[in-house]
Amino acid sequence: MNKELLLKNLRNVPDFPVKGIQFKDVSTLFKNPECLRMAVDELYEMYKDKGITKVVGIESRGFVVGAALAYKLGAGFVMCRKPGKLPAETRSRSFMKEYGEDSIEIHTDAIDKEDVVLLHDDLLATGGSMKAVMDLVNEFCPQKIYINFIIELRIEGLIGREQFPKEVEITRLLEI
Ligand code: AMP
Repeated sequence: MNKELLLKNLRNVPDFPVKGIQFKDVSTLFKNPECLRMAVDELYEMYKDKGITKVVGIESRGFVVGAALAYKLGAGFVMCRKPGKLPAETRSRSFMKEYGEDSIEIHTDAIDKEDVVLLHDDLLATGGSMKAVMDLVNEFCPQKIYINFIIELRIEGLIGREQFPKEVEITRLLEI
């Protein structure tokens, strides 16, 4: 994988959505055909032998690579969405983000006990949103949960990885 190419195509937007946040904009990475393919192919190589049956993507940037990866793995794709977006019965969790509070929902019939699940999002900051999704998915008692991000932010004061139990395998393509 060409990390430099991915980094070169990642846009940094200062003070978005609030002052002081350096927003890592993956839209510039997704719009580049080579970067999009490279990200999906690299993740496929990382997870192809793990027996993944469902990829769970977090709205909305987690849908892009998550769905492409699910297709390539021969797995199903599950959407974790913002409140009020999913039409059927849901489970919900609230969490704190790098900038404000939010909550996330999943359909109550999204995961089965037999599933091996890969949770995917574009970026790990405080880990609050992914931890909420992991807790939600854990309620379904799947066989195993893996976690992946495209980017792991390493900024002083962010506790990202520490939110998760040591036994949960967490991977990322880029660390910045
Ligand atoms: P967190 O729950 O704090 O780990 O935040 C991760 C979620 O918020 C991901 O869905 C990201 O898309 C978004 N996010 C948080 N901070 C940033 C940032 N600095 N740049 C881009 N996205 C961010």
